[in-house]
Amino acid sequence: MKKSRIIIIITAIIFVLGIIGSLLVFRIPRSNIVSIRSGGREIYSIDLSRAEDCVFHIEFEGRMNTVEIKDHSIRVTEADCPDKICVRTAAIEADKSSAPIVCLPNRLVIEMENGSADGRTG
Ligand SMILES: [Zn+2]
Repeated sequence: MKKSRIIIIITAIIFVLGIIGSLLVFRIPRSNIVSIRSGGREIYSIDLSRAEDCVFHIEFEGRMNTVEIKDHSIRVTEADCPDKICVRTAAIEADKSSAPIVCLPNRLVIEMENGSADGRTG
């Protein structure tokens, strides 16, 4: 009967939609935790969704980066590195997948931690 064919097609469509849906879910970062590493060591781990607006400085071997948290986004506002790539990089915002902010001369990396709450400590 043709009815069974329709049921198979509907099942297939639901199946495909399910796969697309789960792919979309996995692409969205599940946390808003931003990790700040200086000289290869993680110095801060900040939850952007709860972070209050503030400005702070990160020093590495005498070089300074000024980091600003504003409206649940984080960016480098000032740096004494020669290239200023970190200053020009767009802010990392909560609930968005953003490119990491990297300052190679000052060995500073600010990036969104990937989803899974793996409870890393230390
Ligand atoms: Zn820089």
